Amino acid sequence: MTADIIDGKAFAATVREKVAAHVARLKDAGVTPGLAVILVGEDPASEVYVRNKGKQTLEVGMNSFEHKLPVDTPEAEVLALIDKLNNDPAVHGILCQLPVPDHINDDKVINAISPEKDVDGFHISNVGLLATGQKSMVPCTPLGCLMMLRERHGSLSGMNAVVVGRSNIVGKPMAALLLKDSCTVTIAHSRTKDIEALCRGADILVAAVGRPQMITGDWVKPGATVIDVGINRIAAPERGEGKMRLVGDVEFASAAEVAGAITPVPGGVGPMTIACLLANTVTACCRANGLEEPEGLTA
Ligand code: NDP
Repeated sequence: MTADIIDGKAFAATVREKVAAHVARLKDAGVTPGLAVILVGEDPASEVYVRNKGKQTLEVGMNSFEHKLPVDTPEAEVLALIDKLNNDPAVHGILCQLPVPDHINDDKVINAISPEKDVDGFHISNVGLLATGQKSMVPCTPLGCLMMLRERHGSLSGMNAVVVGRSNIVGKPMAALLLKDSCTVTIAHSRTKDIEALCRGADILVAAVGRPQMITGDWVKPGATVIDVGINRIAAPERGEGKMRLVGDVEFASAAEVAGAITPVPGGVGPMTIACLLANTVTACCRANGLEEPEGLTA
């Protein structure tokens, strides 16, 4: 193996330390950042995410407000709760854990959150601000990827970046962030022709596809930086009957032979996502109070 491993777990810890230091300064100034998380229903994966978010929010010294609602909560009730949180000065960040049950329109919920408190960065106003290169709340997973890339390269200016995947939560905002940092950006998706050759031209290759180990070493340009966003659960019979393991969208072993640097799964992008949620909450709190924003915690 030749590639350097980008340790997202360690990097996320440094982001959390920076957040905690800034929270302490804010508390000295009489403000405690607060994050409100809404969970509708009892999806086990969502419950784990929400628990982790709440735990890490408290660990960095912020207030955590959890709102767990029954699966059959009417949409109007969720919207009313968001309205209340929008008007609560103790709450600086609001997120509604997705997916929501089918009877609730996720776009309606996302766009009901005040853009200034939209720490997931999914509100249409924030999407537009990011697309036009303006200051916005930035989606957490792409923000985490950007931080790791900046840490590795310093300036990204002039680099060829290929983002595989065009979802609203990862692919598109990732591409917008890379463009803002002056990369030459190509977005690939399921209809892209000769995707391997396209990827082989990338100095920065971001995989956000949701297909286990789709991108192999022969798709990677020698020396490229590979960011693997994918989280896929596959059978792991070598660990025993019925056992599973996590893999990314990149076949780690073959890609690591060619890449200059690569994020592992698990332990790469994953831990950065919650760290960036905390960073966004501090940023939102500073903006709400007209206070100086922490450096290096946003795009
Ligand atoms: P989506 O399913 O919303 O989007 C997947 C994208 O991949 C689509 O744009 C799709 O193209 C494209 N795609 C699918 N198959 C192919 C193919 N064969 N070749 C090229 N492109 C293809 O997924 P998300 O963006 O939400 O998530 C992507 C991955 O990232 C998942 O594994 C998810 O679990 C993970 N993830 C990880 C996070 C983290 O914290 N680390 C956070 C969020 C997601 P098309 O549009 O044409 O259908």
